[in-house]
Amino acid sequence: MKIRTYGDPVLRRKAQMVTEITDELKKLIKDMFEVMHQNDGIGLAATQIGVEQRVIVTDAFDMPLVIINPEIVMRGGEEIAEEGCLSFPGIKASIKRAKDIMAKGLGENGEEIKLEVTGIPARVIQHEVDHLNGILIVDRMIPAERDTVKTLL
Ligand SMILES: [Zn+2]
Repeated sequence: MKIRTYGDPVLRRKAQMVTEITDELKKLIKDMFEVMHQNDGIGLAATQIGVEQRVIVTDAFDMPLVIINPEIVMRGGEEIAEEGCLSFPGIKASIKRAKDIMAKGLGENGEEIKLEVTGIPARVIQHEVDHLNGILIVDRMIPAERDTVKTLL
């Protein structure tokens, strides 16, 4: 399975809510972890492998985490940090995001989950939820950095 990179129109589409936990969905989650690991990523959104479903996976926590229909319900503070994206190979940019968030959604088996997260894991969740809304790091870069990056894309 290939990671979709910048320029692929699927990355700009808004993913659909998951309405049912199916075997197909479980297979998707398995594939997402596999692709993320193969590419040394710490987070992946389904849209990055061309599936327009609201599912994210991450390894930024102590254990592998899946969030289905993730939602950020609270944001606090602000932090600028360097960030990469598997859909922008070789690019790093300083991105401003909330430092602390509260997120909710469903776990792999459809159970409700609610998380209070800070630092890198909070950044990863914000990044992946952006993907589900068709928002990419290039949209969040400061203008000077965006201009530099555009010459590399
Ligand atoms: Zn990304």
